[in-house]
Amino acid sequence: MMAVGRQDKGTTMSTGYVHVLVAVDFSPFSNLATRRAAEIARISNAGLTMLHVVDYFPEDVPLDVVAPGDEDPADFLHRHAADQLAALARDLGQDQAVGKVAFSTHSARHEIIRIAREEGVDLIVVGSHGRRGLAEYLGSTAHAIIHGADCDVLIVRAQED
Ligand code: AMP
Repeated sequence: MMAVGRQDKGTTMSTGYVHVLVAVDFSPFSNLATRRAAEIARISNAGLTMLHVVDYFPEDVPLDVVAPGDEDPADFLHRHAADQLAALARDLGQDQAVGKVAFSTHSARHEIIRIAREEGVDLIVVGSHGRRGLAEYLGSTAHAIIHGADCDVLIVRAQED
C-alpha cells in the first residue's frame, strides 16, 4: 500500500504525481488548498502550477477604476494577479512554482479544466469553497471540476473556526 505524504525510515514516499495544478482565487480556502498542493508537489518531486482565472467582463468594468493611468485594463489585471501569485508562492517557500493567469468571460471552472487538460496535469487541487464563503454545501467551482476534469481532483475542505 502506498503511504501518501509520510516519510518512513528516511525514505520519501511519493504520490506518483508529476504535475500538480492548484486553482487559486486568493480566498483563505484556496490558500489552504495551495499549501496542500505545495506539500504534495514537494513530496512527489512534481511540478506545481498555481492558476488564477480573472473573471473579466470588459463591458461591466469601470475601466478608470480598475486600471490607473493609461495601462490597458487587461494588462493591469494580469500584472496584479501575477504579483499576488508570486507573493503567495514566496510565502509558501514555493519559488519554483509556475504562476499562471488566465482570463475568462464566462466561467473560471471551464478555464481551469481546459488548462489542466492542455498542460497534462495529473492532479488538480481546489478549495471546497471560495470568495463567496461557506454559503453553499460545496463551491460551484469545486463541483464542476470534479465532474469535468480528466485527472484526479483533491478538494481541500474548508476549516471552520
Ligand atoms: P467557489 O466555487 O467560488 O466556492 O471556489 C471554490 C474554489 O475554486 C476556490 O477555493 C479556488 O480553489 C477555486 N477557484 C474559484 N474561483 C477561482 C478563480 N477565479 N481562479 C482560480 N481558482 C478559483
